[in-house]
Amino acid sequence: MISLVRRITAVCALSTVLTTLPACGTTQASRAGHSSPSESAAEPSPAGPSATATAAAAPPTLAPGPGGLTPVFANGPRTGGKKVAFTFDADMTAAEGPRAAAGEHFDNPALIAALRALKVPATVFMTGRWAEQYPDEARSIGNDPLFELGNHSYSHYAFTGDCHGLPTVGADRMRSDVERAYTAFRKAGVRHAMPYFRFPGGCYDKQALRALSGLRVTAVQWDVVSGDAFATDADAVARQVLGGVKPGSVVIMHCTRSAAPTTERVVRAVVPELRKEGYRFVKVSDMIGAATGRS
Ligand SMILES: [Zn+2]
Repeated sequence: MISLVRRITAVCALSTVLTTLPACGTTQASRAGHSSPSESAAEPSPAGPSATATAAAAPPTLAPGPGGLTPVFANGPRTGGKKVAFTFDADMTAAEGPRAAAGEHFDNPALIAALRALKVPATVFMTGRWAEQYPDEARSIGNDPLFELGNHSYSHYAFTGDCHGLPTVGADRMRSDVERAYTAFRKAGVRHAMPYFRFPGGCYDKQALRALSGLRVTAVQWDVVSGDAFATDADAVARQVLGGVKPGSVVIMHCTRSAAPTTERVVRAVVPELRKEGYRFVKVSDMIGAATGRS
C-alpha cells in the first residue's frame, strides 16, 4: 500500500508541477479490417477526435457505461498473451508558455528516437498546449504508424475538484477543453488523433465522465506507474516497471525532459528485458481491441 501510494503521489506531483504529461499515437489503416455492426455505437464523433478517422475506420473503443457515461479502460486482458502497452504523457499546461520561452524543454525527442530505434509501438497522450509548442514533433509522432496520439486535454487542468493541486476546469468547459486539444492536433498536421482521453492527474468522477460522453472517447488509465516523474535514478524506475508489468498491462510514463529526465534510459533498459521475458509491445488501441474482441 505504501509503495502504491508513493507511486500515485509521484504521478500526481509531476502532474501538478508540470501540468503536462500523458501520451500519444495514431493508427488508421491497421483498423480497416476491424468492423462489426455492434461497434457502430462506439465510433468517435466527428465533433471529437477527427472526422477523417471516422471515415477511414473507427479505432476500437469501449462501449459507453450506464446512461452513456464515458467508458474507462485501465488494462487489457490478463489471459491474452504477454502484451504490454507503453503510454507516454506529453504534458504542458496552458500556463507554461513562459517557462518554455525561457528554455525549459517539455518535449523529449531522444525518447521518441529511442522508441523508433527499438521499434516499440507506443501511445502518446498529448496536451493541446504541447502540440502548439512543438507542432513539428506533434505531427511527426501523430502521423508515425509506430505511434498513436491520444488526448490529454488542452490545458492540463483537473477534471475533478481535488486533483493533486491542479487548477480545475469547470464542468461546462470540460468538453470544449478536450475538443480544443483535438483542434490543436489538427492544426499541427496530425491526421488521425485517437478517440482516447487521459484525464490530467488521472482524476475523474461521474460528472467528468458525463461531461465528455458526447465525444465518444474512451478514458484511458493504467495499471503500472513507472515512477519516472521527477525521478533521477533510472535503474529504480526500470525496476519498478519490470516489477509491475503483467500480461495486459498499461504503463504510464512521460514524454518531457523537464519533469521526467530518465525516461529514455528507462525505456532502453526495460525493453530488452521485457522482450527476453516474452513480452510484445502494443498500442492502447490493440489492448482495447483485444478487450472488445476486435483483435
Ligand atoms: Zn499529465
